[in-house]
Amino acid sequence: MRVDLHLHTTASDGRLTPEEVVQLAAKQGLSVVSITDHDSTDGIAAALAAAESFPPLKVIPGVEINTDIPGGEIHILGYFIDHQSEEFKRALKRLRHSRKIRARKMIAKLARLGMEVDWERVKQLAGGGSIGRPHIAQAMLEQGYISSLQQAFTRYIGREGPAYAERERLSPVAAVELVIRARGLPVLAHPANLDDLEGLLLELKAAGLVGLEAYYDGYRQETIHRLVALASKHSLIACGGSDFHGFEGANETPIGRVNVPMECAQQLIALAQKRAKLVTK
Ligand SMILES: [Zn+2]
Ligand SMILES: [Zn+2]
Repeated sequence: MRVDLHLHTTASDGRLTPEEVVQLAAKQGLSVVSITDHDSTDGIAAALAAAESFPPLKVIPGVEINTDIPGGEIHILGYFIDHQSEEFKRALKRLRHSRKIRARKMIAKLARLGMEVDWERVKQLAGGGSIGRPHIAQAMLEQGYISSLQQAFTRYIGREGPAYAERERLSPVAAVELVIRARGLPVLAHPANLDDLEGLLLELKAAGLVGLEAYYDGYRQETIHRLVALASKHSLIACGGSDFHGFEGANETPIGRVNVPMECAQQLIALAQKRAKLVTK
């Protein structure tokens, strides 16, 4: 019984289609997965449909909303969101639009550094999904400006890079509220390196946070223990996943390879069912 609650597809910056990700999850013998694309639920319907061919695999509709704090980013996962809600889809579309503006700003900065990155190609690489820095990196690689995807980040478009640009800000609390309005369960993504994590948890919990990601790609045992203890102290569910993007690089954890206890998924599922009952009452 294996679980992976953090997967990306071509609906955002992943390399595999939702169908391919579901197929791979089934092949790896996973029992519960969640598709959590950046600021998009466009891959959910296809993933849910694909999962029907692979019982007993269960796909939880999810999303990962990128938010901004001074000097960094915080990602909020939303599980069991109503992926068909028009209001939610509109809000995500606004966020993606701000990503596009940001990508254009980075491309303009790269041009000033002498690298004419092809905007049409970047859009094509995003495949109609949210445009992210990995797409710019891929275009740079194809045009020979860098020799590895990683180099794009370390030299140019990483947070400290000369071609980095910020985007319109969304606060973590606003993202938690957005997930709640879409009847989802908000969970703080990969929080190990965040400053004043406890203060943040209190603030987000007041807004409706139900969990935090404790089991995550590259987290050491002591980090996992610390995060699980923190989750239990604040009555939050300790969740987790691989943050799989399908790039097949040496740096990437394969799908399902992070050891996420089945209990995490069970707790989320139980909470979602409890809330759904409250709504129908
Ligand atoms: Zn993330
Ligand atoms: Zn992610």
